[in-house]
Amino acid sequence: RCGAAPGIGDSHGIRAVGLARRRRRPYGRGMRISDVIRRKGGDVITVRTDASVSELLSLLSEHKIGAVVVSDDGESVHGIVSERDIVRHLHTDGAGLLDAPVGQIMTAEVHTVSPDDSLDDLESMMTERRFRHVPVVGDGKLVAIVSIGDVVKNRIDDLQAERDQLRTYIQS
Ligand code: AMP
Repeated sequence: RCGAAPGIGDSHGIRAVGLARRRRRPYGRGMRISDVIRRKGGDVITVRTDASVSELLSLLSEHKIGAVVVSDDGESVHGIVSERDIVRHLHTDGAGLLDAPVGQIMTAEVHTVSPDDSLDDLESMMTERRFRHVPVVGDGKLVAIVSIGDVVKNRIDDLQAERDQLRTYIQS
């Protein structure tokens, strides 16, 4: 089920889509998105819909990130824009794109997760839909963003912890 998340982007007629609930399988000791946020922190870079693509490029470069949540108030999710959107539009629209507003190239139907969702489900969403970034929304407000890099890091940390436990067990 993909439901519209209440209060997110509705004033703009834009739908933010919550994580589809699926069959759950045990993974990483049942890690939740909130665990990932605790590890990485909840800083989210946002950009306004009326900012220019050129300003967006500055943000991506300055913060060394690949996507920015589009939000006019820093709390509601109005869209998401990644380096892929810029590349695609540069190819079709040409260099004039740099002066265009971010709202023109962003993806308006944003798939989000809540802090209580499982990392397992997020991983499936990223794989199936080919997103590398997913905003985290709690109580109708943007609280974090999780990237594929964060997911991979958590996976590796988990595997290493499990390996260390097994090694200790075998050696004891
Ligand atoms: P990415 O892999 O995150 O660089 O994004 C690839 C494409 O998917 C771009 O067109 C993004 O605007 C879009 N996109 C990225 N993340 C999301 C998301 N959470 N919900 C909807 N679209 C997204």
